[in-house]
Amino acid sequence: MLNTKMQALGDAPSPIRALFAYGAQRKKEIGSDKVFDFSIGNPSVAAPESIGREIVKLGQADPVAVHAYTQSAGDPGVLQTIAESFNRRFGTSYTNKNFYLVAGASGAISCTLRALLEPEDEVIAITPYFTEYRIWTEAHGGTLVEVPARSDNFEMDLDALEAAITAHTKVVIINSPNNPVGVVYSRQNEEGLADLLRRKSVEYGSPIFLLSDEPYRELVYGGREVPWVPDLYDDTIVCYSWSKCLSLPGERMGFVLVPDAVTQSRAVYSAVCGAGRSLGYICAPSLFQKVIAKCVDEQTDITAYERNRKLLCEILDEFGYEYIEPQGAFYLWVKALEPDAEAFSEQAKKHELLLVPSNGFGVEGWVRLGYCVSEDTIRNSCDAFGALKADYGK
Ligand code: PLP
Repeated sequence: MLNTKMQALGDAPSPIRALFAYGAQRKKEIGSDKVFDFSIGNPSVAAPESIGREIVKLGQADPVAVHAYTQSAGDPGVLQTIAESFNRRFGTSYTNKNFYLVAGASGAISCTLRALLEPEDEVIAITPYFTEYRIWTEAHGGTLVEVPARSDNFEMDLDALEAAITAHTKVVIINSPNNPVGVVYSRQNEEGLADLLRRKSVEYGSPIFLLSDEPYRELVYGGREVPWVPDLYDDTIVCYSWSKCLSLPGERMGFVLVPDAVTQSRAVYSAVCGAGRSLGYICAPSLFQKVIAKCVDEQTDITAYERNRKLLCEILDEFGYEYIEPQGAFYLWVKALEPDAEAFSEQAKKHELLLVPSNGFGVEGWVRLGYCVSEDTIRNSCDAFGALKADYGK
């Protein structure tokens, strides 16, 4: 009668969204100041003012033109403006023909996987990984292969990756700055991956594509470098969005970038367009294409995230929690106080602390805290973290 796999996905929303929904309900019941919701990656910093100004201007412009369908890949002028912005930043020479605008990094990854995957293809993700990689890989007929990150610093474990690559490996997904761990891969680590993929592509006689998932590219602390991945490896496809860097997650704006250096670049680009077509994307939101074209060089101010990160680390230090100090994005990866992360997350709920258990990210024993919240939420959560620690008698 219906597709039961899809029904199952609908019935079991991601653990992050489930906790977020629980938090919204709880806030109604006891007041939002009493719930310490660290569940979801909704930016807490306002979008730059220029975004609002452009929306107002476009609201006064010719509505027929503003709201019309654009070409499927996006308005060519908008795409060229985006290409030139990235060229200024990274010394590249992209044009509008390299970019496909789509609904967020999610749409970008989904289209890219659909474009590349054939039956029996494998996609490697580094655990812990963004929960939806498995859903999108399987939706497009691939098999997700999990490769653990290094346990000391959560960078990529190149030996483990080498052992996992087979003749079926079509795509490796990387995400730096990383959700959920907050690590930013070093240039050396990424160069090592590039060398490995070049070697394996030659060995198996077909390219292994590197999908670089980059919604957090601009969210880095302490001046840490985020290398431009296509400079390191030719067969890189970038999946980017403005969800986090311009605080526009609900507006669903992102892109797939297929550089000319990618093997059979034009065919891959066509396949991305075809994937978008088959998924019914039509074109990215027209109004926001125009907003992005005006604001593509803008930045949100990340000092609030930097302050939150410091404050939360101080609280965790005070009670002796073990965690990975984040270098980027806005997540903290904290060791659960018992092996069962789901049980630990349930225990935390008793103190109105909403911490996402690590199981959905492919590993046991940790929780993720999103610190894209108000500073008050963090300050007021201090006692709850203390009480949670006391529950475990430590
Ligand atoms: N990839 C990672 C690692 C993410 O954390 C997210 C969102 O949180 C996405 C992709 C999806 O981003 P978007 O909202 O732009 O679709």
